[in-house]
Amino acid sequence: MDPKTYNLAIVGYGGMGSYHVQLIEPIERLTVAGVFDIVDYRKELAAAKGLQTYDSLEAVLSDDKVDIVLIATPNDVHKTIAIQALRAGKHVVCEKPVTVSSSELLEIMETAKETNRVFMVHQNRRWDEDFLIIQDLIAQKKIGEVFRVESRVQGANGIPGDWRQLKAYGGGMLLDWGVHLLDQLLLLTGSRIDSVAAELSFILGTEVDDGFTSHIRFKDGLTAVIEVGTTNFVKLPRWYVKGTEGTTVIRDWDLSGETVAINPDVAKVEPTPIQAGQGLTKTMAPPSEESTLRSPIEKAQSTKASFYDNLVSVIEGAAEPLVKNEEVLRVLRLIETIFEAAEKRAVLKDLEL
Ligand code: NAD
Repeated sequence: MDPKTYNLAIVGYGGMGSYHVQLIEPIERLTVAGVFDIVDYRKELAAAKGLQTYDSLEAVLSDDKVDIVLIATPNDVHKTIAIQALRAGKHVVCEKPVTVSSSELLEIMETAKETNRVFMVHQNRRWDEDFLIIQDLIAQKKIGEVFRVESRVQGANGIPGDWRQLKAYGGGMLLDWGVHLLDQLLLLTGSRIDSVAAELSFILGTEVDDGFTSHIRFKDGLTAVIEVGTTNFVKLPRWYVKGTEGTTVIRDWDLSGETVAINPDVAKVEPTPIQAGQGLTKTMAPPSEESTLRSPIEKAQSTKASFYDNLVSVIEGAAEPLVKNEEVLRVLRLIETIFEAAEKRAVLKDLEL
C-alpha cells in the first residue's frame, strides 16, 4: 500500500498563506486540501489558482479529509484558531510569531497534549543558509571560541502598511522579525541567559516598535546584539561574529562576506603603524596579511529534512520535531523580557531563561 498523503488546509491566504502552497508542492506526502480566508477576494484568488475554498473555519474543521490546518493569519488570532483546530482533531502548523504571549502558547501546548495532535511552528529561518553557516562556524570552532554574535536585519521601507503596524493584531518588529533572529540565536549556544538590555525604536510614529536593539549576555560569557531596523538606508552586516581566533562577517542574503582568522602556521607578526586620520596607530592597524588567512563564506553542510518532510515524520512518530514547542516558548519568554527591559530601561538579571 502507498504511504498516506496528508491533506492540509490553509487558514489565511495572504502573502504567507499563498507562499505555503509553493512550499508544499514538492512535498510528496502532502497536498493542499483547500483555503479559507475571511476576505472573499483572497478566496477568489485561491480559486483562480485551482484551489478549493471553504466558506468558514467551521467548514474546514468539519471536513474529515483535512488532516492538518496551517494558520497564516495575523498573529492575534493564531491561538484561537489553533485550539479550535486541535480540538477538531487536526494537526496544526502555525506561522510565527506563534502567539503574542507565552501564556497563549502554553494553552495551545496543553491542548495539543490533551488531543494528542502535533502542533509545530513554522520557524522557517532555521533553514536559512546564512544561519546554517554561522551554526557550523560555531560548532566546528572555525574561528576558535565565539564570544560575540551580532545578528541584524535592516531595511529602509518602514513597516508594511497593514496589521503589522497595530498592537491589537500582534504587530511590531520585535514580534515580526525579532522572533526569527532570537530563535536563531538561542540555537547557537547551549547556555542559559544571564542578562538582557534592550531599546525599542518608534521613529515612524507607529503604536508598535518599528525596530529594536537588544543586548543579551549568556551565562557562558557569549554576548549578542540582536537588532532589527526599518529606517536604515545603509545597512550593517547581517552577521558579525567574533571568535578567539578570527572574525566572520556575512554582509547580506547573497552570502557575501569573509572570514579572517589567525594562520596557525605563521608566528604573530608585529603590526606596522598606519596613518589614521591625523594620527598614527598600531592598535587599529589591520591584521598582517602573512599571519592571517582570509577565506570566502563556505556553504553549510546541513542535511536536515525540510520543515514539511519533518512534519510528516513527526505525525507518524518517526522523528522528533525540528522545531520544538519548548524552544519556541523560550523565544517568546525572551521577547517578553526584551519588552520589559526596554520599558524599564534596565538591565534585567537573574533570569530563568
Ligand atoms: P497577510 O496580511 O498578507 O495575510 C493574512 C491573511 O489572513 C489575509 O488574507 C487576511 O484576510 C486573513 N485573515 C485574517 N484574519 C483571519 C481569520 N480570522 N481567519 C481566516 N483568515 C484571516 O499577512 P502575512 O504576511 O501573510 O502574515 C500572516 C502570518 O504569517 C503572520 O503570522 C506572519 O507573521 C507570518 N509570516 C511569516 C513569515 C515567515 O517567513 N515565516 C513571513 C511573512 C509572514
